[in-house]
Amino acid sequence: MKTAPEIARMHALLQTQKQASLAHGILSADERIGWLNRLIAMLADNKDEIADTITRDFGSRTRELTLLADVLGSINELKFARDNLAKWMQPEAHAGMFPDAQARVEYVPLGVVGMLSPWNFPVNLTFAPLAGIVAAGNRCIIKPSELTPATSALIARLIGAAFNESEIAVVLGGPDVAAEFSTLAFDHLLYTGSTSVGRHVMRAAAANLVPVTLELGGKSPVIVSQCASVEDAAARIMTIKTLNAGQICLAPDYVFIPEHSLERFITAATTAVGNMFPTLANNPGYTAIINERHHARLQSYLSDARERGARIVEINPANEDFTAQNVHRLPPTLVVQPPEDSRIMQEEIFGPLLPVLTYRHVGEAIDFVNKRDRPLALYYFGQDPAEEHQVLSNTISGGVTVNDCMTHAFSETMPFGGVGASGMGAYHGQAGFRTFSHARAIYRQGKAIEAEYALRPPYGEPMQQYL
Ligand code: NAD
Repeated sequence: MKTAPEIARMHALLQTQKQASLAHGILSADERIGWLNRLIAMLADNKDEIADTITRDFGSRTRELTLLADVLGSINELKFARDNLAKWMQPEAHAGMFPDAQARVEYVPLGVVGMLSPWNFPVNLTFAPLAGIVAAGNRCIIKPSELTPATSALIARLIGAAFNESEIAVVLGGPDVAAEFSTLAFDHLLYTGSTSVGRHVMRAAAANLVPVTLELGGKSPVIVSQCASVEDAAARIMTIKTLNAGQICLAPDYVFIPEHSLERFITAATTAVGNMFPTLANNPGYTAIINERHHARLQSYLSDARERGARIVEINPANEDFTAQNVHRLPPTLVVQPPEDSRIMQEEIFGPLLPVLTYRHVGEAIDFVNKRDRPLALYYFGQDPAEEHQVLSNTISGGVTVNDCMTHAFSETMPFGGVGASGMGAYHGQAGFRTFSHARAIYRQGKAIEAEYALRPPYGEPMQQYL
């Protein structure tokens, strides 16, 4: 892919979509439903090719994960938006200032939305937000990730076949294309990716005062209570930590365990992984790390933590040789008591490594969380309502799941998004519709205003009765 022509093309596409948006006027509910149905059919009709392509991009990833998370997850969001958008579009009636005036809020499209999407669930994290973007009546230009090149090319081909470029279009390219993309004068820009790149995106968008929705990452903590079942908690934590080999923005990043339960947790986590993955190194059900660079990054976390005195517990049920494989799999690994300044405790892991820390009083875990950036998710395992309240009311995070990991993000009726360094703005369901709409206040003045219109001199007189 040549960069310069693609950059010229994205500038032209923006003009095309802006002009189409002005010429056509606001898309009706029926037109939006038509677009959503096209997207649903596109994903359903091409599900097998999507699954095979994502597997190829990862080197190894089970088709079932893609069919569930990428295809079905996207279709559910698109259907939910389709089935609810007429209701969401209903104007809200408001009280007018004068008895015969009318006031309402209409949720109108923003115009052309730009989207930079990531590689870890490359279809879901493109099409789930697209549900809100289209439901709100916008046009969209998408720049999918260069780390899943075959999937991004497939997305471009499928969108190109189903949509005119004036409706939804895809541009392809790497960081230079992405950097230019974020300088375009979109009406809104959605970025899903790392916090560090998110800063560049927001800075570039600011030059044109383009509003941004940033779906970022960070270190999502888990606090396991003294009263929790260590075995249940370990099983649920390792289920999500091994899903997509931890390459999930909502993956538990580190775990706080009561000091006296540490060894039980290590045993339970090891058992849980063995139950799910009797073999790992050549198991197509265990996702590979996306590329050599990320594989090396994760391994460098391990060597750094080891050098700094952390205990490394590799979970490798069949004692396999991971260096012999031709894809980049990495065994799930517990990193026990890494120092605070180790890289694994400074950076988002985004892989199957799990730092395990201990505490004596839950307040220590809360303080630790609060000394760091606000996470995308926070997880608490326990059956003590007072302690649960203490944890939730003394921390801030994008979302929370109690007694599991990540499940809060599966609901189409709850907003999904970060806070602080883990992002701004939210989507899923009506939250997405609202994020990609402008709430336009519309006031129709009445006639019976003459007697007490406060904006006409002598100012203030009609007001006296209220002061
Ligand atoms: P990334 O930030 O490294 O890259 C994402 C995209 O940014 C790429 O497509 C790249 O082309 C583009 N990019 C690179 N430099 C750029 C620049 N200067 N300006 C504009 N764009 C630029 O993220 P990633 O590796 O694709 O994904 C991993 C990260 O994404 C993790 O931090 C993870 O937590 C986060 N994430 C968040 C969510 C969420 O919904 N909150 C979902 C998935 C991933």
